[in-house]
Amino acid sequence: MKIAIIGFGAAAIGFIEKAKNTDHEIHIFEKSKDIYSSSISGIRADGKLFVSKDMGGDLDVDLELQKNLVDFWINKTGDGQHETGSSFSNMEYYKKFYEKGFQPVISDFYHLGTDQLKKVLYNIYEEYRNLKNVHFHFENLISNVELAGNKIKLDYNETFDKVIVAVGRSGHKLIKTIIKQYPQIVLDSSKVDIGVRFELPDHIVEDLNKEMYEFKVRYKSKTGYMVRTFCNNPSGYVVTENYGDFTTVNGHSKIKEKSKNTNFAILTTVQLTEPFNDPIGYGSNIAELSNMLGGNRVILQTYSHFVNSKRTKNLYRVVPTLDESKYILGDINLAYPRRLIESIIDFAENLNEVVPGITHPDNLVYAPEIKFYTNALNNEAFKNLKFVGDCSGFTRSIIYATAHGYMMAEKISGE
Ligand SMILES: Cc1cc2nc3c(=O)[nH]c(=O)nc-3n(C[C@H](O)[C@H](O)[C@H](O)COP(=O)(O)OP(=O)(O)OC[C@H]3O[C@@H](n4cnc5c(N)ncnc54)[C@H](O)[C@@H]3O)c2cc1C
Repeated sequence: MKIAIIGFGAAAIGFIEKAKNTDHEIHIFEKSKDIYSSSISGIRADGKLFVSKDMGGDLDVDLELQKNLVDFWINKTGDGQHETGSSFSNMEYYKKFYEKGFQPVISDFYHLGTDQLKKVLYNIYEEYRNLKNVHFHFENLISNVELAGNKIKLDYNETFDKVIVAVGRSGHKLIKTIIKQYPQIVLDSSKVDIGVRFELPDHIVEDLNKEMYEFKVRYKSKTGYMVRTFCNNPSGYVVTENYGDFTTVNGHSKIKEKSKNTNFAILTTVQLTEPFNDPIGYGSNIAELSNMLGGNRVILQTYSHFVNSKRTKNLYRVVPTLDESKYILGDINLAYPRRLIESIIDFAENLNEVVPGITHPDNLVYAPEIKFYTNALNNEAFKNLKFVGDCSGFTRSIIYATAHGYMMAEKISGE
């Protein structure tokens, strides 16, 4: 079978890993210039790999497969260097959070670190490019996918027996074009996660970081919204993420270079109901408004000013890890709806009951931090056009995206 994969990220890697020893002729179309390009794949920051049934995507992925895929990624570092731990395997911590209304998320994690990821990606590419049935086509941005009888045509040109769309979140333009052409593939589009990134000195969360590195908890706030922690980075760094039309904050950590601060996101899930059906538009508008107030920079505020809706003018004991040129001291309340702010404060105040020091007045709060959900797409709509990884709407992590690609290759081989 002649198969095209659009995009070379985690999902494509999972697919190729399973299909590499078959007779299929596999062509990978990747928009980036080459494997060294900084825009290639979402696998560029942090590289935290989770084994969990409770997070990472809305797919049922066997824990054994998840662990095998973790080993696959770790092996590609060359020397196997990584950090590891598990969240909430210690029942004492589980109970402490549970008592205060939190729902602890159980997972094992393995941290590769931003500084190793380029090498990992390169090692994977080196192995695949030497396979006879795998062909890479870099600098190939695909902008049209079309049904052509029982084949699929890419960019009005070459046809394939099967096309696997694995363009991640950065491929939203292509997904939008496909949806416009074939609207029946959309299953659901209603959620967006909006919140802030918290930054505080390591010593406040030292015990928690030592115990589990990544603490993930969910909490039903008094506003009715579900709020959760996301992407905890002990001794990490806050960074910005450019979406083209706006800039958001994010966090990561490295395996060698360490800061003195921990950062994590507090995210509120906004579920929109009829007649509104544009969660991406809603999130983008809040991000753009925040950037507008910040003069195209992200907003940084102390926790007490965030609570009291005052513009921050000076910082005190916590030194931001984000470069000074990238933020402006301001007031997030001018950009975020009240219900979101109340949900975040309720979460932080309650978390402070379990981890004293979370709400120190001079801890730092950055905005906007937004996580878009992609539309959930129907993989049963067409026999020879499939969507894997984050662009399918079913995954949100490296391991789930890799597994999705892997399971799709398995399914196709069994047909
Ligand atoms: C800053 C950041 C940090 C993250 N940290 C973690 C983490 O620590 N742990 C974790 O589990 N997850 C993390 N994630 C999420 C994780 O990276 C993604 O869930 C995962 O990479 C999704 O894999 P994917 O294959 O679906 O997409 P991607 O890995 O994004 O790959 C998609 C590929 O498609 C290419 N492409 C896009 N459009 C086109 C087109 N039209 N034509 C051709 N090629 C195209 C892109 O260039 C890219 O190479 C992070 C994400 C970000 C943004």
